[in-house]
Amino acid sequence: MAYDFDLYVIGAGSGGVRAARFAAGFGAKVAVAESRYLGGTCVNVGCVPKKLLVYGAHFAEDFEQASGFGWSLDEAQFDWPTLIANKDREINRLNGIYRNLLVNSGVTLHEGHAKIVDPHQVEINGERFTARNILIATGGWPQIPEIPGHEHAISSNQAFFLKELPKRVLVVGGGYIAVEFAGIFHGLGAETTLLYRGELFLRGFDGSVRKHLQEELTKRGMDLQFNADIERIDKQADGSLKVTLKDGRQLEADCVFYATGRRPMLDNLGLENTGVKLDKKGFVEVDELYRTAEPSILALGDVIGRVQLTPVALAEGMAVARRLFKPEQYRPVDYKMIPTAVFSLPNIGTVGLTEEEAREAGHEVQIFESRFRPMKLTLTECQERTLMKLVVDAKTDKVLGCHMVGPEAGEIVQGLAIALKAGATKRDFDETIGVHPTAAEEFVTMRTPVAG
Ligand code: FAD
Ligand code: NDP
Repeated sequence: MAYDFDLYVIGAGSGGVRAARFAAGFGAKVAVAESRYLGGTCVNVGCVPKKLLVYGAHFAEDFEQASGFGWSLDEAQFDWPTLIANKDREINRLNGIYRNLLVNSGVTLHEGHAKIVDPHQVEINGERFTARNILIATGGWPQIPEIPGHEHAISSNQAFFLKELPKRVLVVGGGYIAVEFAGIFHGLGAETTLLYRGELFLRGFDGSVRKHLQEELTKRGMDLQFNADIERIDKQADGSLKVTLKDGRQLEADCVFYATGRRPMLDNLGLENTGVKLDKKGFVEVDELYRTAEPSILALGDVIGRVQLTPVALAEGMAVARRLFKPEQYRPVDYKMIPTAVFSLPNIGTVGLTEEEAREAGHEVQIFESRFRPMKLTLTECQERTLMKLVVDAKTDKVLGCHMVGPEAGEIVQGLAIALKAGATKRDFDETIGVHPTAAEEFVTMRTPVAG
């Protein structure tokens, strides 16, 4: 049978655009459908605008520290609407770039909500198109627990478009988004409380990193409340929110921001017209080649719930395009040693195993740790400390994990990730000459283990 397209991609986000562009580049006839915004979550309500707001928040401490270097400034003023308007302008520019990327690579762009009507057919804006393969790349959506008053809370989707900076913000959750946004609000001058239901936030990160960040955020005056969860939210006559916790305490806020994870975006996608199966958590189930239970339908990115990061969605998109249309270049995605950063203030950068994971996996480990006050702060009042940590296999000498909390941790860990991926040993680290004077050189000068 002749199909309208070789590949019909639903969702022009990180993974969908990458798969579509490369498939078209390999000579396939490709269409991509997008219902909301070109570039998807990352470009519109994720990584990019988030990082711009983090940069904005960082200026607060830069101004504070400048006086130690002889600069005097009048009291700095911050204007939220200016930041948001400039951010919006930049995102519009990026949307245009995504449009050009798709069109120039020969992909047909359909703007509207796509629904799968049978395993080889998609309906969009009242028209139907057939395809040999359909790729579900529809991403995720914030998930807010349905407690009484949840409609008064916002998620990251709304936070990027608030008309003004709230005076008092309560951030709920202990993952990436909660920690990053608490840093943004706090840095920009809002009174910020972070509520997390467990003992310590950032479950899954290295224990020293979690503790160190807790200490640094507390030093900066952020109110961290652990073992705390909300029972209900009530709107008061003056528009403020009264928040009742499960332990009976009450807090007041002008904004309650939930960052309690993301669900797969499958709304009105028509999966009932296919044999696609979902896993226990509701994400689309795929095999190692991103094939769903329906032979003609594939899925990747956040909607499969494997690793919800843009570079992972990009790698999956590339793998799908190659396997289908350039099989001689196909290489599976390697999910080991994925570096990642949390853009909190200060940043976390991490790659490889945490100390806890290494011990649990049966490694005999040596731990190297360094905590120091960065040189840039020595002329300032700021007492922030940086943490660097290496987890090493005592038997093979291989570096199993690198972890950092401090300025530019994400930038530093990207380079280390290459070394770990290449199987670097502690001896390789020791024999590497440092770049002086930098914070990063500490990673190659840690000599004495703090624990074995
Ligand atoms: P998405 O980028 O979500 O794209 C899916 C697209 O499909 C969307 O544009 C959607 O509108 C469209 N769509 C959905 N249903 C339909 C339909 N039926 N028809 C047509 N179109 C449809 N990752 C990082 O690596 N670094 C970061 O710093 C980072 N920061 C983040 C900050 C926030 C606040 C959030 C929410 C996420 C962040 N992420 C970050 C995660 C990253 O954004 C995602 O992992 C990535 O965008 C996933 O890409 P995707 O292609 O799977 O889906
Ligand atoms: P995460 O899964 O990272 O964190 C969710 C947090 O919410 C956890 O602390 C979890 O607690 C808590 N939680 C879950 N359900 C509830 C509930 N019902 N009540 C109270 N607390 C709850 O999700 P995020 O929303 O922060 O981010 C989604 C994903 O997006 C991330 O996992 C990451 O992959 C990606 N992302 C990446 C970024 C980056 O690379 N810098 C930045 C932002 C997002 P518990 O731990 O106890 O389960």
